[in-house]
Amino acid sequence: MCATCGCGDDGATITAVGAQSGHDHSHDHTHDHPHAHPHTETIALEQKVLAKNDMLAEQNRQWLTDHAILAFNITSSPGAGKTTLLERTIRHLSPQRQVSVIEGDQETLLDADRITAAGARAVQVNTGAGCHLDAGMVERALRVLEPDSGSLLFIENVGNLVCPALFDLGEHSKVVVISVTEGTDKPLKYPHMFAAAGLVLVNKVDLLPYVDFDLDLCVQHARSVNPGVEIVPVSATKGDGMDVWFKWIDARANELHTTVT
Ligand code: MG
Repeated sequence: MCATCGCGDDGATITAVGAQSGHDHSHDHTHDHPHAHPHTETIALEQKVLAKNDMLAEQNRQWLTDHAILAFNITSSPGAGKTTLLERTIRHLSPQRQVSVIEGDQETLLDADRITAAGARAVQVNTGAGCHLDAGMVERALRVLEPDSGSLLFIENVGNLVCPALFDLGEHSKVVVISVTEGTDKPLKYPHMFAAAGLVLVNKVDLLPYVDFDLDLCVQHARSVNPGVEIVPVSATKGDGMDVWFKWIDARANELHTTVT
């Protein structure tokens, strides 16, 4: 349960699929709920939280754009390889330009330590009970980081494909990482996140011979929720496809430069 966005609050629909064990479920479920629904207040609070977040996110984006700082919001399930991807990316890019990272995790400084060892400036945001970063946290982190004009900023979100889809951080693009050790159907199960993606990286492709993952089908699923989205298979540990990812970053940097000048 998330303490800040209330995503643990129930809006769920429960649907029985296939044969159910036990007693007959065909009886009428239309009886009155035993207690009043606090649903209306929940939705109002959620809208207020999101509206405030969107306002702060727009301020972040304006500040980043004014300073020609290209910002990406990197999201994935836990363990898809975001930090490993960033380590390799930083080692490749940081000799030419400054790279900064805002690291989001519920606890520990472990990832920020890895990022600084790779050669980037980093701040760690620990969200405690929260399951996502929000625009206010990013604003505070930017005050600490003070990234140079013209630099690159990666925001590594908390590993979670649900709430980070709702919270704009002020980035220029969302990059969703999925790994081949996950289910091929992930884009269908988490459509909001994949629909918001500017790029999908399919990581750990070096493991394809050993896992049951259909890359073509995953691409098909991702495009069914986000037609035309760019999808790049990569291996952050072995290096496959990383040149395509670096070229994609360069293309976004050129776009931003054109906007600013
Ligand atoms: Mg990480």
